[in-house]
Amino acid sequence: MSPGKLTLGLIINIVLILLISYGTTGSLNPFQAFSSSNLLIKIVLIVLAFFTFIEFLFLLVISRIPEDAICQDPDCGKDIRTYYLVLRGAIRCPVCGRWYHRACWIRYNRTSSPLEILKGCKKCRGEGEMGRPRLLGEEDTLRG
Ligand SMILES: [Zn+2]
Ligand SMILES: [Zn+2]
Repeated sequence: MSPGKLTLGLIINIVLILLISYGTTGSLNPFQAFSSSNLLIKIVLIVLAFFTFIEFLFLLVISRIPEDAICQDPDCGKDIRTYYLVLRGAIRCPVCGRWYHRACWIRYNRTSSPLEILKGCKKCRGEGEMGRPRLLGEEDTLRG
């Protein structure tokens, strides 16, 4: 999911909440709609507020990743932000500052323990497999 789509989702959610509030009480205050409406409207408002909150948190997390950060796993090379959820998050190498998807880091560096992560990635430890041909279909096994 890209930040652009997330921001759009966030805006749509907020507009929906405001529309429901206005539709039920004639006021744009969602708290007024919440206290004076029926159970169904209450549930809809809670669900919308919940997703708005989750999207907002996710936007905060993802905004610390540079827009042009690319996964440094030679078998991946994909945008970090776009594949953040699919590839289970992101790890920034504490030694060289290169970005990896979490799933790519584990596969490429063969470790996920915090202590091993502190030692840096394969590339900055000089163990990079430079020139290794990318295996066809290898990326697809990740998505399963
Ligand atoms: Zn990756
Ligand atoms: Zn590194």
